[in-house]
Formats: sequence, C-alpha cells, structure tokens
Amino acid sequence: MTQPIKKIVIAGGGTAGWMTAAALSKLMGKDLDITLVESESIGTVGVGEATIPTLLFFHRLLGIDEKEFLAATQATYKLGISFENWRDVGKDYIHAFGVTGKDCWACGFQHFWLRAKQLGLAGDFGDYCLERRAAEAEKFTHLPNNGLNYAFHFDASLYAKYLRQFSESNGAKRVEGKIDQVMLHPENGHIRALKLDSGRELDGDFFIDCTGMRALLIEKTLHTGFESWSHWLPCDGAVAVQTEAVAPPIPYTRSIARESAWQWRIPLQHRVGNGLVYSGAYQSDESAKRQLMDNIEGKPLADPRIIKFQTGRRRKQWHKNCLAVGLSSGFLEPLESTSIHLIQQNIVRFLRLFPHREIRQIEVDEYNRQADFEMERIRDFIILHYKVTERDDTEFWRYCRQMDVPDSLAAKIDMFRETGHVYREGNELFVDSWQQVMIGQGLMPERYHPLVDTMPEQELRDFIAHVKAGVDGDLSRLQDHNTYLASLMSGQ
Ligand code: FAD
Repeated sequence: MTQPIKKIVIAGGGTAGWMTAAALSKLMGKDLDITLVESESIGTVGVGEATIPTLLFFHRLLGIDEKEFLAATQATYKLGISFENWRDVGKDYIHAFGVTGKDCWACGFQHFWLRAKQLGLAGDFGDYCLERRAAEAEKFTHLPNNGLNYAFHFDASLYAKYLRQFSESNGAKRVEGKIDQVMLHPENGHIRALKLDSGRELDGDFFIDCTGMRALLIEKTLHTGFESWSHWLPCDGAVAVQTEAVAPPIPYTRSIARESAWQWRIPLQHRVGNGLVYSGAYQSDESAKRQLMDNIEGKPLADPRIIKFQTGRRRKQWHKNCLAVGLSSGFLEPLESTSIHLIQQNIVRFLRLFPHREIRQIEVDEYNRQADFEMERIRDFIILHYKVTERDDTEFWRYCRQMDVPDSLAAKIDMFRETGHVYREGNELFVDSWQQVMIGQGLMPERYHPLVDTMPEQELRDFIAHVKAGVDGDLSRLQDHNTYLASLMSGQ
C-alpha cells in the first residue's frame, strides 16, 4: 500500500473510540480526515471507570484541563486500590501509586525495611509510602513537583461524551449507524470501507477497530486470531450495577476478594460503580448477581448487568491497514485498572509509528512486539494477586494457588522470595508496585542485600525514622479528599 494515509475511520465510540478520536484530531487533525462511526442501539460496555496515573500524561498531551474534566465526568481522585481478603480472609493492604521509602544505588528500600522490621525498628511497609497513607486517611491535595501520584475514577459514559465534544471541536466527524459489512480490497485484503445499515459506505485509508469485544474488523473480518490466557486468569464474567452514594467519595478503589470472585467499588462524585468479577466454572451468573446485590451499599440505579469476557490478546493488534484499540485488542480483567492505560499506550505508539506515506511491515511488527510485551507484563502482575495468596478456603483459591504461572512471573516471584530484588524489564509499567503487592499478599523475601548489614543499627534507625518523618510531613499538608474536591468543583 503506497498511498499516503489521509482518511482514518474509527469504528466504535466507547472509551477506546473517543480517546483515539480525541488524540488523532488534536495532534494530527490538520493532516487527517477523521470519521468515527458508532451505534447508539448497540451502546458501549459502560464500565471502565478506574484509572492509573498515566492518564494524566494522556490528558497533558491533549491539553485537557483537569478541573473541566473532573466536572464533566463527575470524577474523583484515586491514590490506589485497597485489596481486601486477597492475602487471606480479614487481611487487607493498599497498593498505592507512589514509591515506598527511598532506594539506594545498590538496592531498593525493601532491603532496609526488612532488616529494620526484624530489629523491631519499622512499621508496615506501606507506612513509608505517602499515597498509601493519604488513601487510608482519605486525604488529597495537589503537591508541587508531582509530590503526590494520583489518577481518577470517572463516569465512563460522561468521559466518552466529553471526549466526543473535544474531538468534534478539533474537526473529527461522527456518524451514527450500525456497521453491517466490512469491505475489502480484493488485491491485498486491506479494508476498503465500512458499509452501514443505511447503505452508506465509509471508505478510508486506515481503520481503527474500537468495536469492543465484537472486534468486527480485526477479528471477524481479518481473522488475526486470539490467544487465550484463561488458564491463568480463570474469571470470565462480571456483573455490574451502579448505586447511589451513601457516603462522601473515598480516594481509592476497593477490591474485595470473595469465595470465587472479587468485587469492585468505584466512588464517583454522584454515584458509586460496583461489580463482581467471577469465574463461571465456580459460580453461576445468578449466584454472582445475588452476591453482588447482597454486598452493595445504597440504592441500585438500574438492574445488574452481566458481561461475559475472555481473557487474552489478539495475536496481532495491528494487521494490514487496521489497528485494534480497546477491548477489540484483548482483555485483562480490571483488577489493576489497566485497560484504559493500554488504550492510550496503543494510541501513542500508533502516533509514534504513524504510517504517513505507506504501511511498512517493519513498523507494524515493531508495534505488535511492543504491544505484546506490555500486555504480558501487566498480565503477569495481575496473575500475581491470584497466585501468591494464603487463601485455601475454597476450590477456586486452591486452584489459583496451585496453578502454573508464566515463566516470566515465576522468575520474578522466585527472585523476590530468594533475594528481595525486583528488576524492571524494559519499560514495563509497574515498578514499585511489585514489592507492594508481593509483600501485601504475604510473600516475604528470605534475605536482604548484604550492604544493609554494614549499616550500624543506629544509622538504620535514623534512616527509617527520617523516611517516616518525610511522609508524615507531606501527609500533614493534605486536606480531606472530599472537602478538597468540593472546593475545586465550586471554584474556590
Ligand atoms: P465498548 O465500550 O464496548 O465500545 C464499543 C463501541 O463499538 C460502541 O460505541 C458500539 O456502539 C460500537 N459498535 C460495536 N459494534 C458496532 C457496529 N456493528 N456498528 C457500529 N458500532 C458498533 N478498564 C479500566 O481501565 N478500568 C476499569 O476499572 C475497568 N473496569 C472494567 C470492568 C469490566 C467488567 C470490563 C468488562 C471492563 C473494564 N475495563 C476497565 C475495560 C474498559 O471498560 C474498556 O477498556 C473501555 O471501556 C473501552 O471499551 P471499548 O471502547 O473498547 O468498547
């Protein structure tokens, strides 16, 4: 294909479709003709409301004003996720967004903390992480120099609406209609046009598949194949319901492990998002619905909705003149709120490798290599929560404890258990998070770096106290989350 890429057609207008339209129209709108087609009668998946701090990067890139976004999407601040009953029933921890303690040139803070803990000089690992302490205290304030790492909880349908306005104001066009047929160029199998139920044809040079789990272009038409990861992540369904808020919003997501499922609670300004992710092999849809409805606070705003999914990834996320973004590219359960992050990564990677003049296979392969690596590392991190647990109270948890895990994850677990080290591979997303979750799930290293033993006990005591005092000092500068948010919203 040698013609310049000018006409882009985005199929689907969920979070993925509108994030793609927003980025392309803002950053490349002058060069491109961008059309998004979506179907109101099909609708969107309607969940996906918890994010991670990388979203701030995406918003900065697009010049999105935070206050305007918060107001438009009824968003709240998020400092991490509270994992309840994951290590064992009654044992909780918070995986917070920030860094814990201070590393030195030779090793991470956890090595100092391990020895200090053995000597009775240190508290919980999380005591040395500002975001974890702030989450627990339900506090939030912007600190200078990105002193507090944060993300958002937002209303997914309001976010799509907000990004639609943003995209249209930057020149993207929206078409309402149902795609009936995907038409191909006979000579090379590239996509030529989308035929709508009205008979209208939307032709383009490049197509972005944001049709969600239907994957109409990348799979149903181009048959790129799907690699299932369900043997490592046995949950394959979710039931979701929105409820009225009964208390002010807290600045973290709750993830509460159940007998063969886990439940989320996502606090927004105007309501709460709730859901239960479960495994159909261990729990029926009806029982999952009952379990969720028995464990919500506040009046439901609609009937609970079942969403079935398969965990895994598309074998090629970019194939010919089609790129899959969002649920069409694969799915990882929302345990660490990573799907929206993967959407923005796909968009930014595509912009970096944008095929201005022609589609070059070397760029397509590079894109797919990076996307595969990124998703595999996140997959490993999610599996970690199921694998490293002390729970053996149900068949589901016994399966998770005993299951084989990918070699890449097994190596990370062994490394941490035997040495206390965590090594970052390439530019993988999670770094400090590994220590937080492994320790939170009950995995304690058998030893720490020998350098720590060269430190006199008093020096170690002073160092730990100094780190704690720094966190205490920053914490005292934060306000109550709800008060802070309310004052921002009222423009004070
Ligand atoms: P969808 O929202 O399904 O949108 C698909 C679009 O394609 C719609 O506009 C639809 O109308 C259109 N479409 C489909 N077929 C046609 C057709 N024939 N013609 C025209 N239009 C068509 N992610 C997070 O980051 N954080 C979370 O907390 C989180 N929680 C989740 C919880 C659950 C239970 C699930 C299943 C996912 C969760 N996700 C989460 C993932 C997140 O919801 C998605 O990544 C995100 O919503 C993007 O979805 P999408 O736009 O790819 O698909």
